[in-house]
Amino acid sequence: MNNPHTEYDTLSGAICLSFANAFNVTASDGHEEMFQDYADLIEWAQLLEVIDLPTAQSLHREAEQHPGEATAVLQSAWALRQVLYRLFAALAHQQTPDPADLDALNTALVGTLAHQRLVLHEDGFAWVWDNTAALDQMIWPVLRDAADLLTGDLLDRVGQCANVRGCGWLFLDTSRNRSRRWCSMETCGNRAKVMRHYRRTKA
Ligand SMILES: [Zn+2]
Repeated sequence: MNNPHTEYDTLSGAICLSFANAFNVTASDGHEEMFQDYADLIEWAQLLEVIDLPTAQSLHREAEQHPGEATAVLQSAWALRQVLYRLFAALAHQQTPDPADLDALNTALVGTLAHQRLVLHEDGFAWVWDNTAALDQMIWPVLRDAADLLTGDLLDRVGQCANVRGCGWLFLDTSRNRSRRWCSMETCGNRAKVMRHYRRTKA
C-alpha cells in the first residue's frame, strides 16, 4: 500500500518529527528524500514557521552566492533527517535507538546550541537564535526540538502511521486515549477506509 506524499507533513505535532517525515517510501522499501534542493529546505522551514519571510528571502540570496555551501547543507539535512527518523521510529516501537544515531545527534547539537542566546524580554528571559546568515539555521530549531522531545514528558507519545510500509511517518499522539493511528486522516486514514470498504463490498 504505497502512498507517496506530495506535500510536507505539517500534522505530526513536533517540528523534529515533521522534518524526519520529509521522505517517501520507495517501491524497494527505501526512502526518497522530499528535499530535492536547498530551496526546498527553505520552503519547508517557512511552511512549518521555523523561519519568517525576510529570513527566507535572505537565505535564497545567500544560497545563490554560495551554491556549494547550500548543497553541503542539503546533504547534511538528509543525513540528520535519517538520523532523527531512525531514532524516533525506534522509540515509537519501544526499542533502544542505535547509539550511533544518538552520537550523530549529539555531534550536530554541539554546533547548534552554540547559536542560542538568552535575552531579557519584558516578561522574562527567553532563548533566541543568533541573527546570522548561516545557511543551516533552519536545522537548529529542528535539533533543539528533537533534544526537547527526547528529554520531555511526551516521548512515550511518539507513534508511527499504521500504514507502516507505504508511509511510515512519525507523529505525536496527544489524544487522550492514545488512539491516533494515522499520519493524517486525509491521506493514509482515508486510504485505509477505502480499502476496508472495497474488501467488504467484494466479500
Ligand atoms: Zn501515513
